[in-house]
Amino acid sequence: MVTLTDRAAMHAWSREQRKRGKRIGFIPTMGALHAGHLHLVKQSLAQTDCTVVSIFVNPSQFGPKEDFDRYPRVLEADREMLAQAGCHALFHPDVTAVYPEGFQTTVAVEPLGSDLCGRERPGHFQGVATVVSVLLNLVQPDRAFFGLKDYQQFVIIRRLVHDLSMDVEIIGVPTVRETDGLAMSSRNRYLTDEDRRRAVAIHGAMVAAKTAFEAGEKGAARLEAIARRILIDAGIHRIQYLAVRSADTLMPVKVITAQSVVLTAVKVGTTRLIDNVLLT
Ligand code: AMP
Repeated sequence: MVTLTDRAAMHAWSREQRKRGKRIGFIPTMGALHAGHLHLVKQSLAQTDCTVVSIFVNPSQFGPKEDFDRYPRVLEADREMLAQAGCHALFHPDVTAVYPEGFQTTVAVEPLGSDLCGRERPGHFQGVATVVSVLLNLVQPDRAFFGLKDYQQFVIIRRLVHDLSMDVEIIGVPTVRETDGLAMSSRNRYLTDEDRRRAVAIHGAMVAAKTAFEAGEKGAARLEAIARRILIDAGIHRIQYLAVRSADTLMPVKVITAQSVVLTAVKVGTTRLIDNVLLT
């Protein structure tokens, strides 16, 4: 596995692969890799000829009071995991390689980016959309893989790639979970034992909504109430949002007639966690 750090080297590597007729798969990450990330790598290895993973903790997607400084950075362990998994290239740029001096461009997918997580984290999705645009242009992949765990992010990236006519296929990959259902996340390591036990209810709440939906409940407000009750009963009171939305557009729905998604963001202790489940 090669490690690339600057723009020119990344461009040159991709150009070379394409010249050889290879299809490139790309997975952008912020590192502190876990089995969820590796599942994306596996999908890319199966669907393309060579796989690039980027590790970049993007400052512009963190708010001033968020965890940018304490976000886990474990490059050597990550590199080892990626090499073991069979990844072909690690792109690990520094801030100036992604945002060269004089950088002034922002990519905003609005109003999608101001809803749900964007309401709680103003500017977050502009940071995400901008960095992903830069990275896609640097790597020039045929396919890019995103976790459905970050469902709103997935919908935003799909929208921006379509709107800006970028020549890349966006693939959504189902959420990888711990055995008790908690969605894997680099931020799970912030949880105390007590928080960790409590956090299981997040997936429990999503499953309860899905079960009720499958038993015939099609009213969004009633499904939201069922899921909310599970969170509150588990002692999770700081629910930033819990909503049933269209899976395609994330617009609100009252009665479910097409594929929908239940999404939530909660605070457990000091940690903000998100999860979702598709209602098909
Ligand atoms: P992050 O490093 O948190 O920015 O995540 C990088 C990519 O991995 C994003 O596309 C995430 O949606 C995806 N991802 C993170 N956790 C999971 C998970 N538990 N299952 C599937 N994909 C995930």
